[in-house]
Amino acid sequence: MILVTGGAGYIGSHVVRDLADRGYSVLVLDDLSTGHLEAVDKRAMFIQGDTGDSHVLESIFQSHSIQAVMHFAASCLVGESVKDPLKYYQNNVVNTIQLLEKMVEHNIKNFIFSSTCATYGVPDQAVIHEQLPLDPINPYGKSKLMVETVLNSISDSHDFRYIALRYFNVAGAHISGEIGEDHAPETHLIPNILRHLQGKSSFIEIFGNDYSTPDGTCIRDYIHVMDLSAGHILALEHLLQNPGLKIAEIFNLGNERGVSVLEMINLCEQAVGAKANVKIQPRRKGDPPHLVASSRKIKALLGWVPKYEINKSIETAWNWFKKHPNGYK
Ligand code: UDP
Repeated sequence: MILVTGGAGYIGSHVVRDLADRGYSVLVLDDLSTGHLEAVDKRAMFIQGDTGDSHVLESIFQSHSIQAVMHFAASCLVGESVKDPLKYYQNNVVNTIQLLEKMVEHNIKNFIFSSTCATYGVPDQAVIHEQLPLDPINPYGKSKLMVETVLNSISDSHDFRYIALRYFNVAGAHISGEIGEDHAPETHLIPNILRHLQGKSSFIEIFGNDYSTPDGTCIRDYIHVMDLSAGHILALEHLLQNPGLKIAEIFNLGNERGVSVLEMINLCEQAVGAKANVKIQPRRKGDPPHLVASSRKIKALLGWVPKYEINKSIETAWNWFKKHPNGYK
């Protein structure tokens, strides 16, 4: 059985569905603070609880034979992390350490970790590969880097194997239209634009148009959530199919294409066939100007092949929002 923490969240729910489609038994642990029970695939077992709750973890590890843990449960908003760093160090670092302690205690060796491109900070190179220096500029990125450091140490001291996946910007929805992105409040760019074009807000804000980028707005690399999920399955199977191998790997997961905030607004306008009302706002604290991945390593070592381009991310997200105008409610 695979334990998926945060399996009721946006990314976790897509991975749970993929795991179930592939015949894995899945146990989801989620406190539902930001996730949705409706997003959890019916084939998975569900326990409502906190990853930092050692009693819950103890009972899970005692009652189930867990082959691997995929750890999505975390706080993941750059802007919020700047305003409330303690929340990030508590949820992302302290709670993960509780989980890792319990794993080590119960001799559970396989761990997939949701890391982030925010660990790189403001790289001086246009395309980011895994060997670049790590110098995060916001508490979100710092909290994830702390866990990467912990993982590295445990893999030295214990029979413990992990793959950390550094996500770039995750976008889109399941191709079925049945699960998708539903955050409250929503802060991410694509949902905010699409919600605005759906008439749910009177304008879309651009946080800064004076960055050192061609159009002055921040550039990000948007990866489709189903491609991201496929990367997790490959990572998991790499661990499970090579039991004797010492594995301590870090892979970027991005689409290798940069899209600026302004370009994204244009692409969404074209997809929806409506015009956005744009408001320029000051920069948002903690935002690096330019984050674009090299995913060469995961392609070469695990054979990851992304299937969806940015237009498909917008199209599937739009399909989700049309079918679920109020999210899961
Ligand atoms: N952004 C924006 N308006 C919004 C939401 C986001 O201009 O309503 C910008 C944000 O400042 C960043 C980029 O869009 O430069 C992507 O932000 P998002 O929150 O989607 O993801 P992040 O890169 O912070 O993980």
